[in-house]
Amino acid sequence: MRGIGYYNGEIGFADEMKISMLDRCAYFGDGVYDFMLGSNGKLYEADRHLDRFYNSLKGIRIDFTMSREELRGESDKCIRGLGHDGMFKVYWQASRGTAARNHDFPEPAVKPDLMIMVDALKTIPLDKKISLITVDDIRFTMCNIKTLNLLPNVLVAQRGHEAGCKEVIQHRNGRVTECAHSNCLIVKDGKVRTAPLDNLILPGITRMNIKDTCLANGIPFVEEPFTVDDVFTADEVLVSSTSKFCVAVDKVDGKPVGGKAPEIVKLIQDSMLQKFMAETGKMPDFKA
Ligand code: PLP
Repeated sequence: MRGIGYYNGEIGFADEMKISMLDRCAYFGDGVYDFMLGSNGKLYEADRHLDRFYNSLKGIRIDFTMSREELRGESDKCIRGLGHDGMFKVYWQASRGTAARNHDFPEPAVKPDLMIMVDALKTIPLDKKISLITVDDIRFTMCNIKTLNLLPNVLVAQRGHEAGCKEVIQHRNGRVTECAHSNCLIVKDGKVRTAPLDNLILPGITRMNIKDTCLANGIPFVEEPFTVDDVFTADEVLVSSTSKFCVAVDKVDGKPVGGKAPEIVKLIQDSMLQKFMAETGKMPDFKA
């Protein structure tokens, strides 16, 4: 199956679409993005992803005039173009627009450039545990905005990959922030704990869903900083993201972790699957 691409109203196969060299995304990464799943032609958690996308745009002062309904409409065209009734991913990206390279915002202002990509996706089975390594968080302090500036994330993700790991735990002087492309949570003494929503982490939609599930089931959800040492003594270590939902971790830096509160992990995972099913009418597609 070939992914579908969209650029400022034009639709085609993503691997054939071209964008201008002067799109500010190309030389400054001057833009924001969001990423979500869907299935059966329907988007999953669209409202929360729309909220975050428009917040990110506001966060870097991009004057994006397309309404939420129009953006959904353009996305639907791409989803229909994909012609796949199983699970798919949707990527939205808006840059400040196309103009000669100059740090200041273009004058007169130009229209933001909108890119959409849609493709089929399968996720790893939720009962498969993953291993992580710890790395210094070398990012800037605007991690709450989903900007295109992902070089530090790319570099640490590659370090994880070279260590045979699917993710990494980033920390600032021992304080855990998040993973390269996921949030990190721990379970200890029946409570789920994760870094607070500040400028050092992305407000993950899956993290938000886990919070809803915990609150609905009487599980305390603590949004307070924790350390790498806490990870090693946690009952469970969890990684959450749109594409992985929520998976448990069995090793960090080669040492065994977690495995002591499987009932909480299962409760969270089951509730996610039910939510996905309720919104799209289908279960997620898992890799064999
Ligand atoms: N943190 C970072 C840095 C991410 O890139 C992502 C996902 O892309 C997440 C957390 C998880 O966010 P979500 O659950 O909305 O996918």
